[in-house]
Amino acid sequence: MRVERSMENIDKCLCMKCISYTGHCKMKNAPENFLKLLENYKETKHYEKMYCAYEQSHCIKEMQKCLCSKCDIYHKYKLENIYYCLKTGGQEKSPRTEA
Ligand code: SF4
Ligand code: SF4
Repeated sequence: MRVERSMENIDKCLCMKCISYTGHCKMKNAPENFLKLLENYKETKHYEKMYCAYEQSHCIKEMQKCLCSKCDIYHKYKLENIYYCLKTGGQEKSPRTEA
């Protein structure tokens, strides 16, 4: 099920609380995220949060832990993959990717 790009959904995303989302990436992405929230978060292909509704991150590179399966959006939209920040559409759960 396609995740709706709404403010309500963006607010529920747990990515900002995730250790895979490094402090460096949070700092780097903050200005662009802020501008997109004001301008075109519904149309843009790229946004550095709620990756299940956008393409993968341009900054996050390392699989550390994924909070997706604990997220309300994950259950609301019956998502099945995790690490949406590392791969557009997410990675299948496996012993290697399991959070
Ligand atoms: S998609 Fe998963 S691993 Fe990536 S930042 Fe969000 S919760 Fe963390
Ligand atoms: S499922 Fe993952 S990427 Fe999607 S909103 Fe939740 S924490 Fe963010």
